Amino acid sequence: MKKNVKVFKFGGSSLKDAEAIKHVGNILQGFSKENLIIVVSAMGKTTNALEKVVEAHARQDGTARGLLEDVKATHYRIMDALLPKDHDAYALVNDVFVEVDWVLDEAPHENYDYMYDQIIGVGELVSSRIVHAYLNQVNLPAQWLDARDVILTDDIFREGWVQWDETEERAAKVARPMIENGGFVVTQGFIASTTENFTTTLGREGSDYTAAIFSYCLDAESMTIWKDVPGVLTADPRLFENVVKIDRLSYREAIEMTYFGAKVIHPKTIKPLQNKSIPLFVKSFIDPAGEGTYIGNDVDDTYPPIVAVEKDQALLQISTRDFSFVAEHHMSYLFSIIADLRLQVNAMQNSAISFNVCVNDIDDKVDRFAALIQEQFKVVIDRNLELLTVRHFHQDVLENLRRGKIVMLEERMSRTVQMVVKDVPLMNRRSQPLERAKG
Ligand code: ADP
Ligand code: ASP
Ligand code: MG
Repeated sequence: MKKNVKVFKFGGSSLKDAEAIKHVGNILQGFSKENLIIVVSAMGKTTNALEKVVEAHARQDGTARGLLEDVKATHYRIMDALLPKDHDAYALVNDVFVEVDWVLDEAPHENYDYMYDQIIGVGELVSSRIVHAYLNQVNLPAQWLDARDVILTDDIFREGWVQWDETEERAAKVARPMIENGGFVVTQGFIASTTENFTTTLGREGSDYTAAIFSYCLDAESMTIWKDVPGVLTADPRLFENVVKIDRLSYREAIEMTYFGAKVIHPKTIKPLQNKSIPLFVKSFIDPAGEGTYIGNDVDDTYPPIVAVEKDQALLQISTRDFSFVAEHHMSYLFSIIADLRLQVNAMQNSAISFNVCVNDIDDKVDRFAALIQEQFKVVIDRNLELLTVRHFHQDVLENLRRGKIVMLEERMSRTVQMVVKDVPLMNRRSQPLERAKG
C-alpha cells in the first residue's frame, strides 16, 4: 500500500534568516513520523533581490554582478550559522550560483521573460539546498528533490501553464519512490521545467501553487501553508484593523477571495485541491499550535464581510469611433486579444457605445492592448487604481471603504461588491476599522 503523504509549504517569511530556519526545524520535529513533501520558497525577499539582478543585467549598467554578490553573501551567512564549514551543501549552493554567473557573462537574452526565469529560480534552489542540509543536520532525514524533474509547463516563461498529464506521470515516477523511502522530501516552490529542460516559473508567489500541484499528483492527505498570520483573515492585516480569523472556509469562498487579491494564498492553489477534495490548512509558524484556517468541503457558507484589495489596476474605457454600438463581434475581437496577452480581467461593464474593463496593470500589457485596438476603438486609460472586492458585505463596511475615494466603477452581485477606486493613501484606512468584521 502506498504511504500517505502530507504537503507542507514554507514561504519566504518563514525562512528569512538562520533563526527562522531553526524555528522551521523545530516545527518539523513534531512531524518526524510523517511522510512530508516540504515545498520551500526563496528566503525572505530573495526573489525581489534577484529581480533587481535580472533588471540590471538587461540594462547592462554594470551593477548586476554586485547585486548577485549581495544575494550570495546573505545565503552564505545563513549557512554559516546553520551548518559546519565543511558541509557538502556549500559546494551545491555554489554550483547553483555559478550558473547565474554564467548567465551574467553572456549578453542579455533577447527574450526577457526567458532570461528572468533562468536567473530568478536560484532563490528556491539555494533555499531548498540549505533547508535540506539543515534538516539532516538536526536528525530529520530528508531527501532533496528538484521540482523541475516533476512539474512540466508550456514555454510561457514567467507564467508557465502546468501540463498535468506529464506532471502526474513524473510525480509517480520521481517523487513517489522518494516518499516510499520514508522521511521528508524537500523541494522548491515556484519553479518548473519545459520539455526542453529550460526553467520556467509559475508566477510570483507561485510556491503555494507548487504545493497544490504536488498534493494533487500524489493524492496528499492534506496540504498546510505556514504563514506569519494566524490563518486566513477577513482582510489584509497590513491594510486594515480589526480583522478576524476565519476558522473554516469553503473552496469556493477561498478561490473567490484569493482571485481578487487576498494575498494570503496564491489563487491557483485552490482548484487542484478542490478537484481531489484535499483539505488545505493555513497555519501560523509563529504559533504552530494554533488552529489556523481549514479550507475544504463541508463548510457552512456563512461569513463575516471579507475584503480583498488588488492594487495596480488599470481601467480602460473602450468606445467605438463611429458611435456604433459595442456589439458582440467587437467583444469577441477584444477578448481574443485579452486572451492572447493573458491580461487578467477583474471587472467590466458596458453601455451602448462603450465597454469598460478593469485589468491588472502588469508590465506593458495594457499599453500593448491599447496599441492593438486603437485603430478601431477610442481608448481612455486610468491607471494606479485599486480594486476592492467585498464579499458578504454590510452597508456600513461599504461606506467605510468608499469614504474619501472616487469610485470609478462599481458592480454588485448578490454576495459581492466590487469597486474600482482612485487611490487614497492606504494607511488612511487605519482610521476606518471594519467594525462589522468582528462578526
Ligand atoms: P509567504 O512569505 O509565506 O509567501 P506572504 O508574505 O506572501 O507569505 O503572505 C502572508 C501575508 O499575506 C500576511 O503577512 C498578510 O499580511 C497578507 N494577507 C493578505 N490578505 C490576507 C488575508 N485575508 N488573511 C491573512 N493574511 C493576508
Ligand atoms: N519566491 C517566489 C516569489 O517571491 C515564489 C513564492 O515565494 O511563492 O514570488
Ligand atoms: Mg509569498
